[in-house]
Amino acid sequence: MKKTFPILPVLPDTIELIDTHCHLDMDAYQNDLDMVIQRATDQGVRRIITVGIDAASSRKAVRLAERYPGIYATIGFHPHNARQATDAALQQLAQLAESSSVVGYGEIGLDYVKNYAPRDVQINAFERQIHLARELDLPVIIHDREAHADCLALLRACGPLPRGGVMHCFSGDLQLAMAAIDLGLYLSIPGVVTFNGARMLHEVVRTIDLRYLLLETDGPFLAPVPNRGRRNEPKLMLYTAQMVAELKQLSLTEVARATTANALRLFQLPREYPV
Ligand SMILES: [Zn+2]
Ligand SMILES: [Zn+2]
Repeated sequence: MKKTFPILPVLPDTIELIDTHCHLDMDAYQNDLDMVIQRATDQGVRRIITVGIDAASSRKAVRLAERYPGIYATIGFHPHNARQATDAALQQLAQLAESSSVVGYGEIGLDYVKNYAPRDVQINAFERQIHLARELDLPVIIHDREAHADCLALLRACGPLPRGGVMHCFSGDLQLAMAAIDLGLYLSIPGVVTFNGARMLHEVVRTIDLRYLLLETDGPFLAPVPNRGRRNEPKLMLYTAQMVAELKQLSLTEVARATTANALRLFQLPREYPV
């Protein structure tokens, strides 16, 4: 990609961005979380969804969301932790969902890159959690790494998702993008879109209508250029938004407005920023 943005792009005051996927509970933020959130707010990334990956992080996510305005939580067992998704553990997660700060279920899915849990265990945990999300009336946050075919097959077999969901950190091609949209899912675009080699993702962003796209950091991972390789944090999502704008030949404001509206709709967040 020819273009990089060495300086953090600036949003008009009246526009907000929503980081739909970050791991604020992780150790990477433990020393300066207040500052990370403040910097995000100052840059217009005024709301952050902090995503659970196991029982402890789901609990922490809820605690953070109850402490900070503009932070929301999701709960779930990441495919890496699929072995922990016992019936008892799922029951406890379901209790957490009673908090109004819980806006989604995930991240759940399949990861065939790391294979920290055997595939059959991952598939089983994914399926049971899709059903639980439906019972809890929550949208799903799906993690799919190199598991596209199994992921789609399972989603199709599980039937409609009344609250919809999102393929987070979207890494598939145009065909997968269309299939996901057919299933009622949004595609969430990570900082990877700023990487030079991300041709497939560039094509997806160029082609897919903005009404199906969300933005995320997946912090502390996957910092966009020019911070690639360093800790990611929500304010850096401005680089991602700018690249999406560039690829779609739209303004940053148009991208912010549309992706924020999508996030508000999917996670049923209040339209007015909470104070
Ligand atoms: Zn993930
Ligand atoms: Zn994640």
